[in-house]
Amino acid sequence: MTHAAPVPPDDSHLRSLIEATADAVAAAEPLSSDYAGADAETRAAVEEEVRSRADELVALSQDLHAHPEEGFAEHRSVGALAELLRAHGHEVTVGLGGLDTALRTGTPNNDGPHIAVLSEYDALPGLGHGCGHNVICTAGAGGFLGAAAVAERLGGRVSLVGTPAEEGGGGKETLARAGVFDDVDAVIMLHPFSHDIALHPFLGRRQLEMVFHGVGAHASAQPFMGRNALDAAVAAYQGVSALRQQLPSSDRVHGIFTDGGARPNVIPARAALLFYLRSANPDTLRDLAGRMTAIAHGAAEMTGCGVELHWDAQPAYLPIRFNTTLAGRWSVNQQGTGRKPLPPGIVPEFLTGSTDLGNLSFRMPALHPMIAVSGPTVALHTKEFADAAGSPTGDQAVVDGALGLALTVADYLADAELRQAVHDEFEAAGGALDVPSFFD
Ligand SMILES: [Zn+2]
Ligand SMILES: [Zn+2]
Repeated sequence: MTHAAPVPPDDSHLRSLIEATADAVAAAEPLSSDYAGADAETRAAVEEEVRSRADELVALSQDLHAHPEEGFAEHRSVGALAELLRAHGHEVTVGLGGLDTALRTGTPNNDGPHIAVLSEYDALPGLGHGCGHNVICTAGAGGFLGAAAVAERLGGRVSLVGTPAEEGGGGKETLARAGVFDDVDAVIMLHPFSHDIALHPFLGRRQLEMVFHGVGAHASAQPFMGRNALDAAVAAYQGVSALRQQLPSSDRVHGIFTDGGARPNVIPARAALLFYLRSANPDTLRDLAGRMTAIAHGAAEMTGCGVELHWDAQPAYLPIRFNTTLAGRWSVNQQGTGRKPLPPGIVPEFLTGSTDLGNLSFRMPALHPMIAVSGPTVALHTKEFADAAGSPTGDQAVVDGALGLALTVADYLADAELRQAVHDEFEAAGGALDVPSFFD
């Protein structure tokens, strides 16, 4: 009798979660807004512009979906986006901030408020658009075109920034460090999901590679002359396992062995682990990093090995800081499409990952609502989600999302009281963070 198959995970917890969520979703009311936003004439102009572009936006979404490209290699995708924007008379820069596949366009400079809509277009290895960034890209393009039709009249500016490599690479952080967002007051984008949600938390994320250095020796003849780097790595891995019970329940740590020696008869002189650390706010992420550092040093000490820590081979991602004022306008604007974006806390907040939009959300007010393209049980980063992002429900999200983005941008540019409240909320939450030096 063999036991090659894993023990199948019991799904009773998942099922009870889905049932409880369905009940909460049915009872939930969307966020409201105390602010008027743009007037009826402006809203009608925005809506007409977006609706007149709907077919082109959907065609671009389908085109991107059929030709997925991974981060920093999204050449065809960004080219297709640029072509659509140029066809509508916008001057487009492709390649900025040191990233070949970044894009920028915008309405003419003025002294008014400046909000940027963001487009992502990177895909996942082996899963195509399993995160639905074809929807992000084209809803963003439509949001920009709709708002650009009224921005000058409202005395403000709207830009579209194409941000490469969200799935690993942190294009937004690279662009921010290059100054691309220096003259931007607020940013807005959306993300496809299995529910409509106005505010959904994303965790901050850091990467940590631990490299342990031992002394190689013949494992049988002279083991007493060795120092076992694999033992150090195993001790570190076990140390992290012991740490987990004491972490905040929203924290996540997951790791793999990337080097464990070459053969059993040689005591490994090198072993390595790669971890992702995730936490719900920047301070707790910094604390978690300190605990991981202590574990690595302890494991090295107990095994007589040395250790090197390599942090953040790609830029660290910060969690998303909410802006409830802006989210209120999004919620009101989406209700015109028949969607009812959920307030935070209805869909379990641990059903989440990380995004480099977080890094911008600690520099300026930001909004990152979720728009439904699938049924409630489909998870991001699956083939099923990729299918949904290219289906008629994905297409509908492109148009509804574009409308929501365009109207919310128009609200921000038109309503000075709303704008003040958006920025007051950002300041009350701690204001701008010095992101590049935060983890030093
Ligand atoms: Zn993703
Ligand atoms: Zn994504």
